[in-house]
Amino acid sequence: MITASPQARITSVPQGDWRQLWRDAVTDPLELLDLLGLQALAETLPADDAGFALRVPRGFVARMRHGDPSDPLLLQVLPQLAERNETPGFSRDAVGDLDAREAQGLLHKYHGRALLIASGSCAINCRYCFRRHFPYGEEMAAAGQWRRALDHLRSDSSISELILSGGDPLALTTGKLAELTQGLRALPQVTRLRIHTRLPVVLPQRVDSALQDWLSALPQQKVVVLHANHANEFNADVDAACSDLRTAGVTLLNQSVLLRGVNDSVAALSALSERMFAAGVLPYYLHQLDRVQGAAHFEVSDKVALALSEALRAQLPGYLVPKLVREIGGDASKRPV
Ligand SMILES: *Cc1c(COP(=O)(O)O)cnc(C)c1O
Ligand code: SF4
Repeated sequence: MITASPQARITSVPQGDWRQLWRDAVTDPLELLDLLGLQALAETLPADDAGFALRVPRGFVARMRHGDPSDPLLLQVLPQLAERNETPGFSRDAVGDLDAREAQGLLHKYHGRALLIASGSCAINCRYCFRRHFPYGEEMAAAGQWRRALDHLRSDSSISELILSGGDPLALTTGKLAELTQGLRALPQVTRLRIHTRLPVVLPQRVDSALQDWLSALPQQKVVVLHANHANEFNADVDAACSDLRTAGVTLLNQSVLLRGVNDSVAALSALSERMFAAGVLPYYLHQLDRVQGAAHFEVSDKVALALSEALRAQLPGYLVPKLVREIGGDASKRPV
């Protein structure tokens, strides 16, 4: 039997309270390169972060391959010079309604489902995300005991599903989330609560006993849509978080963004589906990139995306093939590519 020396723990996954781990994230690109033995990449970094800082929890860094500048997890978070390219067709408001989102914190575009921008914060800053142009305030729909959101739900009995999105809704404390579900008790027509979150993947310690207790006690059906883009984002901690969520009665789905250099191959996408299923998660959507300025270098053409999707269908059981979609402002649903 091998006994780990204290030094060996440097590469192990940090443990502790999620808020502490959140604060302890890597925010200095040079430190990140240092941790990965990639100091030589320092000269490829842009001079500044264009208002969207590097942020990545240490436990996520531990899943990156040491010494590999093409690591699919690293590419999602490392600022690149290519972000400076002004690309025609790419805008700052790619889905067309971000101003509205920011003003209200509540979006009701699709039948039966209302979506709350519950929080503007994320534990990780993903370079491809529309959020890079929207430094939201800390609390959106959650402000004022969720009053506006609850008023809207009361006024429209056709809404049976409440979706919490962001930013990352699990950035809120469990107490703040419980305020909302306390208010939902008077609204039995809302039978489903859905949470879109990247936290159980990037900071699995967020799934602590308080969160599990809150979820277990909810009368609504619960769906958590995770956001993982690559099989390497899963490890034993993420497996444990997923297992705890399922034990709390949650149906687990995943959405990914198709990203050049990260997951734009049949091998990467099928490994992702297989790995998430091993963690008890079913693939839901594979999104074509929102065309946000600064993210063009991640884009995969529709032609290639469709070919990948076709090849996946030929290789995997149907339930492991995500739906390839794109979000178009003003549409009544996500649009199949
Ligand atoms: C994506 C989205 C939803 C959820 O759509 P599903 O297809 O049910 O996943 C709901 N409301 C808004 C505003 C959305 O953008
Ligand atoms: S909203 Fe999701 S994709 Fe965007 S930065 Fe936050 S965690 Fe990343």
